[in-house]
Amino acid sequence: MRSIAIDGPAGAGKSTLARSLAQKLGFLYVDTGAIYRTVALAVLRAGADPKEPGQVIPLLDGLDIQMDYGPDGVQRMFLAGEDVSREIREHQVSGLASAVSAIPEVREFLLELQRKLARENNVVMDGRDIGTVVLPGADVKIFLTAAPEARAERRLLELRERGQEADFETILRDIKDRDYQDEHRPIAPLRRGPDAALLDTTDLNLERSLEGLLSLVKEKISL
Ligand code: C5P
Repeated sequence: MRSIAIDGPAGAGKSTLARSLAQKLGFLYVDTGAIYRTVALAVLRAGADPKEPGQVIPLLDGLDIQMDYGPDGVQRMFLAGEDVSREIREHQVSGLASAVSAIPEVREFLLELQRKLARENNVVMDGRDIGTVVLPGADVKIFLTAAPEARAERRLLELRERGQEADFETILRDIKDRDYQDEHRPIAPLRRGPDAALLDTTDLNLERSLEGLLSLVKEKISL
């Protein structure tokens, strides 16, 4: 099986690009952020504090998280049988996901699920620690990034398209906070591994970014 690991901060275009790349290659697109978001939603619904390992860890064993893929290759997330794919995108859940993902037991709990997907499928997997921790043997590793302001601008448009009100300064601050949390956690911090190729999309539109991504992939695997 082939695997392509794409890591980077929020809003660099990872999910859109990873999904397009997967479509082009006929690989399965695995959005690992969605899995962390689903755990965060479960914690929220249980009334637990996502920053408190003592409250989160006991919930893990009873977690009923499922995922499936529609014919269009879109990944859907289910919590206790309920499709929560939309709800996990809400702004509030982003910060909570970042908090629960800093708990080592949560990461450990999700590790096997992610590795199993890559054992059984050709995957394009995106996240924060895919090339460094989850799939250290990935065929291609890419670190995708962009300036925080560019990422905030994209997030703003995305939220507006979904009809959610948001303001630039708040989003920029949240993005910077989340970067800081993700980069400074002791376990699986967000960082570019020494063997990951860098793609900075600050000044690239989607089409150009995808071209850049494809050429990095072609350097490593023959398609
Ligand atoms: O990618 P997305 O923004 O949906 O991820 C939500 C949060 O989940 C991130 O801020 C990060 O803290 C966490 N995450 C992670 N490891 C991954 C994917 C996401 O820690 N592989």
